[in-house]
Amino acid sequence: MSLAPLPLSTKVTVLRGLGPARAAALQEAGLDTLRDLLWSLPYRYVDRGSLRTLDSLELRGFEAPEGGVVTVLGTIQDLRQSTTRVQHMALTEVLLADDTGTLRLLWFNQPYLGRTLKVGDRLLAFGPLTMGRQGLELRSPQFELMGREEETPWVRRFLPLYRKLGPLTGRVRQRLVTEALGRAHPPEEWLPLDLSKDLPDTLTALRLLHEPPDESDARALESGSTPAHRRLAAEELFAFALGVALRRAGRLKRRGLVVPTSPELRERLKAYLPFKLTGAQRRAFKEIVDDVTSGRVMNRLLQGDVGSGKTLVAFLSLAMVAETGGQGALLVPTEVLARQHAASFQRLLGPEAGAMQLLLGGMKAAEKRAALARIASGEARYVVGTHALFQESVAFHRLQLVVVDEQHRFGVKQREALKEKGGDPHWLVMSATPIPRSLALAVFGDLDQSVLDELPPGRQPITTKLHRPESAERAWELVRRELAEGRQAFVVSPSIDPSDEGKVQLRDIQAMEALLRGIFPDEPIEVVHGRLKADEMAARMGRFVAGASKILLATTVIEVGVDVPNATVMVVDHAERFGLSQLHQLRGRVGRGAHRSHFHMISGSETERLQTLVETQDGFRIAQKDLELRGPGEFFGVRQAGLPQFQVADLVRDRALLLRCREAADRALAQGLSERQMDWLRREQARLRLADVS
Ligand code: ADP
Ligand code: MG
Repeated sequence: MSLAPLPLSTKVTVLRGLGPARAAALQEAGLDTLRDLLWSLPYRYVDRGSLRTLDSLELRGFEAPEGGVVTVLGTIQDLRQSTTRVQHMALTEVLLADDTGTLRLLWFNQPYLGRTLKVGDRLLAFGPLTMGRQGLELRSPQFELMGREEETPWVRRFLPLYRKLGPLTGRVRQRLVTEALGRAHPPEEWLPLDLSKDLPDTLTALRLLHEPPDESDARALESGSTPAHRRLAAEELFAFALGVALRRAGRLKRRGLVVPTSPELRERLKAYLPFKLTGAQRRAFKEIVDDVTSGRVMNRLLQGDVGSGKTLVAFLSLAMVAETGGQGALLVPTEVLARQHAASFQRLLGPEAGAMQLLLGGMKAAEKRAALARIASGEARYVVGTHALFQESVAFHRLQLVVVDEQHRFGVKQREALKEKGGDPHWLVMSATPIPRSLALAVFGDLDQSVLDELPPGRQPITTKLHRPESAERAWELVRRELAEGRQAFVVSPSIDPSDEGKVQLRDIQAMEALLRGIFPDEPIEVVHGRLKADEMAARMGRFVAGASKILLATTVIEVGVDVPNATVMVVDHAERFGLSQLHQLRGRVGRGAHRSHFHMISGSETERLQTLVETQDGFRIAQKDLELRGPGEFFGVRQAGLPQFQVADLVRDRALLLRCREAADRALAQGLSERQMDWLRREQARLRLADVS
């Protein structure tokens, strides 16, 4: 029977052997069309050559990278379920047998395995081999039910593994995929030749990844770096880059407000400052000046390590706007930070301090009304605020520049909301977490970049140490010494993200407070966390900033921006619960004055990861490492709304490819897009869940 080839947009329900239950499982997982089915790749491949016979297993002799992970295939000879005596956990035990011997497999707290597994089933299992009381065993291995040998013989070298979807086992999915591959019509080619020239065509790539030929490179398959992976990743990244390029082209066509600045004004502004700009600050400021006088709309990312002086560049830019009849707004993630920026702006402004207006969510009604009135009348030329700035009731008189600190905490939608209020203001995003160019492109889309790659002079390096909990006394000893010298100290206890903080018990920070009060009975201590009311928080911070309190115990609310030059030591408890970049940010809170500063972490685990901070103070390297370890999603925080959802592409692994796609997208755009290309692009953008391109 020969069937006409099916376009990839065909519903999966055309496939044979897809009853209602299985079809529903596919639908539930968002796999509606052949394309959806084929683009969800195996999560792993098992190389038959890596299978171990049960009699050959031994603890020693494994290559370190696999960490003693073995893959075995056998038949379930015995299956028991019981409850452990000590912790009363459900225990599932399987005795697996092959022609050469047997092996014990154990799972904890997965009682449903008793229904999934049956004596006589053929089972593929992989996990780390350990020595138990009754000999070698696999604890909580991942597994794959293989069905009867006659039904699903393992003929090829590589066995692709797919996630089980409800009643749809990996093996059934494999059969569906095979059928889909056989019946699919090759899709149209959308990649420009310079991207596609060394790569297999789309359908071939899919075949290579779902049914890898025996001669495939096992390691490349596993790491997602075969030419077939690159083909699929390039399609996603090209569509993405083309969308960004279109948005950019749209922005460059818009008429931007021309800020009537002059060289004299800029010199006067610089003279305001208590110090000379660094070379990097001067360059960045010049790039901003060029943008806001170009007649186009600025969209610029200002990157720089903690302490590189971004805030100062932001202030200069805002002052330039404020001094020429416009309004500028600085948007920050927390109220603590907003107050702090407002205070330092007021200091810089001196007699002009009245031109500054703070706007916070936690303001009293009357206070807020007054603030809104000053913003609406234009009397407030500098506005510093938190997300309260997004609210509908905020109307600006003449908003020309928005500076966003730590933008990745703001969603794209909120950003659009603010944009609408002021017509089309210039946009400057400051990021203290240095991120690679390709990722900046992915996260922030269409942006130009300025980089502050130079620290202000006179900075002392920060001594960084890592202690195990049993040696924590050394950290407290240091705090004692610094306090005796008249310095102040930060102590940081973990908590989850500040916006979620209210939901968790503050056990950690309370225990730490008790500990500190015991160690330092005579020192005034302030405790701050996200659950405090704004005015209480401000009062406590204020006492510490003024030097009345010597120790500030805090959650990560102090992560960004807090500036207390007299604080020379920070101790972070449970450092393993923080990301590397976050720790680096925290470290940036000390070393801001003339005195030598110290950063001590206490942790009983993940010492290797944390060691990175001991070894380097280069925020760029730390961010890169953090990204590799945690992936972009975690790195930017789960709530990051702007990250595109790629199925195959990986922003860390494929960053070079993304840059090539970006160049190709610019070329394609320069040649003009056809209506059909635009249709394709709209479909792809919808799939990547990106903003509208039209
Ligand atoms: P960032 O926002 O990049 O972390 P800040 O703008 O807060 O850095 O600056 C860090 C510290 O360095 C602040 O105390 C600031 O006053 C000081 N600073 C900034 N620029 C200079 C400069 N050019 N010379 C001397 N000190 C500076
Ligand atoms: Mg800052």
